[in-house]
Amino acid sequence: MSTKYVYLFSEGNASMKNLLGGKGANLAEMTVMGMPVPEGFTVTTEACTRYYDDGKNIAPEVTEEVFANMKKLEEISGKKFGDPKNPLLVSVRSGSRASMPGMMDTILNLGLNDVVVEGFAQLTGNPRFAYDSYRRFIQMFSDVVMDVPKHSFERIIDKMKEAKGITLDSDLTADDIKEMVDKFKAHFKEQKGFDFPSEPKDQLIESITAVFRSWDNPRANSYRRMHDIPYSWGTAVNVQAMVFGNMGNDCGTGVAFSRNPSTGENKLYGEYLINAQGEDVVAGIRTPEPIDTLAQVMPEVYKQFAETAQKLEVHYKNMQDMEFTIERGKLYMLQTRNGKRTAAAALKIACEMVGEGLINKEEAVMMVDPKSLDALLHPQFEVKALNAANPIGAGLPASPGAACGRVIFTAEEAVEWHGRGETVILTRLETSPEDIDGMNVANGILTVRGGMTSHAAVVARGMGRCCVAGCGEISIDEKNKCFTLGGRTIKEGDYISLDGATGKIYAEAIPTVEASIGGDFDTLIGWADGMRDLAIRTNADTPRDSQKAIEFGAEGIGLCRTEHMFFEADRIRDMREMILSTTEEQRRAALNKLLPVQRSDFEGIYEAMNGLPVTIRYLDPPLHEFLPTNEEDIQNLATQMNIPVARIKEVITSLHEFNPMMGFRGCRLTVAYPEIAEMQTRAVIEAAINVQKRHPEWKMVPEIMIPLIGEAKELAFVKDIVVKTADEIIAASGVALEYQVGTMIEIPRACVTADEVAAHAQFFSFGTNDLTQMTFGFSRDDAGNFLNHYYEKKIYEFDPFARLDQIGVGKLVETAVKLGRSAKPEFKVGVCGEHGGDPSSIEFFHKAGLDYVSCSPFRVPIARLAAAQAALEFPRK
Ligand code: PEP
Ligand code: MG
Repeated sequence: MSTKYVYLFSEGNASMKNLLGGKGANLAEMTVMGMPVPEGFTVTTEACTRYYDDGKNIAPEVTEEVFANMKKLEEISGKKFGDPKNPLLVSVRSGSRASMPGMMDTILNLGLNDVVVEGFAQLTGNPRFAYDSYRRFIQMFSDVVMDVPKHSFERIIDKMKEAKGITLDSDLTADDIKEMVDKFKAHFKEQKGFDFPSEPKDQLIESITAVFRSWDNPRANSYRRMHDIPYSWGTAVNVQAMVFGNMGNDCGTGVAFSRNPSTGENKLYGEYLINAQGEDVVAGIRTPEPIDTLAQVMPEVYKQFAETAQKLEVHYKNMQDMEFTIERGKLYMLQTRNGKRTAAAALKIACEMVGEGLINKEEAVMMVDPKSLDALLHPQFEVKALNAANPIGAGLPASPGAACGRVIFTAEEAVEWHGRGETVILTRLETSPEDIDGMNVANGILTVRGGMTSHAAVVARGMGRCCVAGCGEISIDEKNKCFTLGGRTIKEGDYISLDGATGKIYAEAIPTVEASIGGDFDTLIGWADGMRDLAIRTNADTPRDSQKAIEFGAEGIGLCRTEHMFFEADRIRDMREMILSTTEEQRRAALNKLLPVQRSDFEGIYEAMNGLPVTIRYLDPPLHEFLPTNEEDIQNLATQMNIPVARIKEVITSLHEFNPMMGFRGCRLTVAYPEIAEMQTRAVIEAAINVQKRHPEWKMVPEIMIPLIGEAKELAFVKDIVVKTADEIIAASGVALEYQVGTMIEIPRACVTADEVAAHAQFFSFGTNDLTQMTFGFSRDDAGNFLNHYYEKKIYEFDPFARLDQIGVGKLVETAVKLGRSAKPEFKVGVCGEHGGDPSSIEFFHKAGLDYVSCSPFRVPIARLAAAQAALEFPRK
């Protein structure tokens, strides 16, 4: 059977999201539910992938099916495409599987040309409206399909208004707009060198092609990388009969959520505009009215809409984000989808829906995006400092959080300043999808125009970024890089602070404090804890980090990087002395200085962890991070070690490595200098004995982890030193302390010989940072310099250091787990690379049968939730 590329809305349903995209599947579902949806059809995501497979060409079968369905649309509507007597006009909108707000483009009023518009004017009895629809179409089509920017048309409008001495669009007459259409077409011809396409069929195919094309535009690619959306999915295209919200005062259009997407409050939330077309609401050009007031303006329509919203929420068992249009007093639903929401709203909605009996706890846990929790875990303003500060103005509280940073006026410069280590507030008249990279690096976003559903608001909320939108009091001078507000002039680089919860703007840097969590957060994550198989540990090197991790629910430490304990100025000197020692005697002397420091650090960490397991990784200092580079440090070290500066320099030169990441690190140090492992074992075991004596109620079992093992004999060698040292100390102490010796698995050779390695280990922990580096042969330090080329060429779609490469590195992980457990069936296996805090990687580790993941303290709650979701989706036998 040949592939079907086009589905009428009446032929689809919500389960066909992969094929019809989110928007198409939901339009179909609403149609089937008997809701007032203007008729239409969806060109499938398969047609999009075919378009790319065919070298960016629409296949003739697809075109044929599109027109066959246009015929059906004509039959259903009784109107005819391109017929001036009773024209069928359509919208063309993209819709991929996952919603990508602002990423794709929309064309409205398609099917108009010089002849059809005349007929349309007569039919509606409203030439002004007909010509306004036409000029909007020219503008959108030119922008989206033909690359003639929308704002170049805005300039024509501004000039016309100026010449006529008017300020409001609504003061333009039908003749004015007719004249505008001529000017638009002339502008188009001037830019493109050919006439504006007048054949509706060409307009339609060109538009569908443009939507397919836009799947591959840079901002879509950027958004996909940020949200783990595969390129291979493609987008669907929805072609739908137009309904008009701009035919008069009994018309309107709006966007609303079934619950408040900022706070989660169970109350219809949104905005609408009377006598307007959809783009007016989203673009933020006019200020919309709150949805509540529609109850007075059009009580019947409001009632019907509120009931529909409620029905859809119950049907989808999720908060809905809906678009609607009112044409001559009749309501039409143009879209429904699960609404984007802040993390706080997500938690409240999930918990309340369980309370309302709408969903069960498992569904509630599945409903919250683990990554979104980030926003709750981040700083808020210090209350005292906030109270002492005076706002210079306020906008809409579009996305919560507190942000402080330097004012920057363009996305490119935001990226630049951020790259220099500055915190920035991206300040724009209004944002557009081109700004996505700037928004991503900004601490906060401030816009002059736009409502709560404007691009800035929707995107910032999705990113969990603080955003104050629509501060119309701001007078912005983008050219001279400054703005004025409340009598103050703020220049580029000046500090401001934004309060995303109140919308207030401050012309000063207000200090922030760490976030506090509780309530719904504890409830939902508590449910999640009962559903997961993976334990969640943390990577922490200090008692403070350990404490934080405990607050966030960590069940142990999976990685304590001991070399990190020596970064502080007074400690790094002793560490350097140890590294630069040329005799065992010198090295032992330096190690003796490090011993008490390490021992007391370990005691602090054990205490902070309240008797929970602690894995201590032995020294793994990439040498280049520790060697002194400036004269003063070298001089000081020479004095401390009592040897000539020249000698120190000689040693530094001799230690120079071409590939430090593959150099004299990890267990290799101990193979060369066993006294290092001796000292660390002493510190780990003595600290544990001291803490065990203080806390007889705990059972201390320190876990000693040897890094960078590639060969079983390497581990056997280091383990011997550890065991010998530890057993002597324990025997002398009279405390019956148990301990474990395990290894990191971070070299491919260790993965493929994991059965041999396991023979000497009591546990494995995957160091997926190094494992990724060694598997790809990418230096962790340098890959960032060239990975962008790989994203552009679609060779890689994501950063393998952030999200596990499940195909390659993942295969090594699976192999090692299998081999390790073939040697020792109950073998404990975890992961402590960065991937341990990444939800999609956590799903993989769950499926691979790991016992725990370990991640930085702030990612512990994310990991708890992600692990529960993985367990619910892929139950272990
Ligand atoms: C790893 O390699 O994944 C790891 C956790 O160790 P480090 O990042 O310290 O090399
Ligand atoms: Mg490592």
